[in-house]
Amino acid sequence: MNGMDEGSFEQQFGSDNYAGICPEAWQAMEAANRGHVTSYGDDPWTARAADAFRALFETACEVYFVFNGTAANSLALASLCQSYHSVICCDQAHVETDECGAPEFFSNGSKLLVAASAAGKLTPHAVRELATKRSDIHYPKARAVTITQPTETGRVYTLKELKALADECRRLGLLLHMDGARFANACASLGCSPAEMTWKSGVDVLCFGGAKNGMAMGEAVIFFDRALATDFDYRCKQARQLASKMRFLSAPWVGMLESGAWLRNAEHANRCAKQFAARVAGTPGIELAQPVEANAVFVEAPPDVLNKLHERGWSFYTFIGGAARFMFAWDSDPRRAEALANDLKECAAAALLA
Ligand SMILES: *Cc1c(COP(=O)(O)O)cnc(C)c1O
Repeated sequence: MNGMDEGSFEQQFGSDNYAGICPEAWQAMEAANRGHVTSYGDDPWTARAADAFRALFETACEVYFVFNGTAANSLALASLCQSYHSVICCDQAHVETDECGAPEFFSNGSKLLVAASAAGKLTPHAVRELATKRSDIHYPKARAVTITQPTETGRVYTLKELKALADECRRLGLLLHMDGARFANACASLGCSPAEMTWKSGVDVLCFGGAKNGMAMGEAVIFFDRALATDFDYRCKQARQLASKMRFLSAPWVGMLESGAWLRNAEHANRCAKQFAARVAGTPGIELAQPVEANAVFVEAPPDVLNKLHERGWSFYTFIGGAARFMFAWDSDPRRAEALANDLKECAAAALLA
């Protein structure tokens, strides 16, 4: 169309945010684009999206729409903390490794206390250790815990694990935040309701990711304890997260939630990850670094195998622990994923012969 498709590429599995916008989100954007409505969130689309979240979570939660995940996490954590507080997270947490200090910046200095972890999961034991390490005036006071569901390495906390963490938080007087940049993938993986994975397990605040679920952009910040949301609208505005044409952030959620696309998209992505993992599992010379529980597959292979795969034109990252990460999205093409698996197997076989 008018040469406007010049920039499109063959599918790659470097990240789940390489994908475009799914039809349900796109159609809702288009519907929202017909005519005028009031600005700054005082519009029917935003009200309807917030109601759709309340229906999905089966509770009267407070819902806010922001542009991206870094903003969602940072502002949610800032709303739980004073500047002299601390937030417990795991060493692989996005808030620690990939947000450029935004959680500390937006909370005016609340310190992240980082727990070493094996599989990117926090444990009640690690939380207790960090929270009780010091209680003197010279150390920031532990106030909140943040977990990523699914984790940065595609692992999923079970409901039992979530409950155990939340119980420990309650005992220690800590609030529990969930970074759900891929929340839908975790729901699809556990086959549980969004309510069960959050407030029914003891989560106080959730950041629900839209971009990796099939939207252009946008994350929802959901407060199950509504008292914690006090003045959150002002915090969003001050942080430049109040969209004047809010309907274009909120309408896609209406499309995603009312149609069920949020879950179908995640199920498709998870299925592609499982299929890809099954194709490459058992190949001599390579190993799956993690069990595949959501939409990520981490492959351990010698550097020359990964270099050869890059040379064949495949993009992927090795920034988490050195393994090659492949991410699957709402529109991942199973045949393209099969081609990747075949290339990976050929590169591994060639390296063994060399
Ligand atoms: C992608 C991602 C985010 C959000 O990142 P933004 O680029 O700021 O939208 C947050 N947490 C995790 C675990 C992510 O993978």
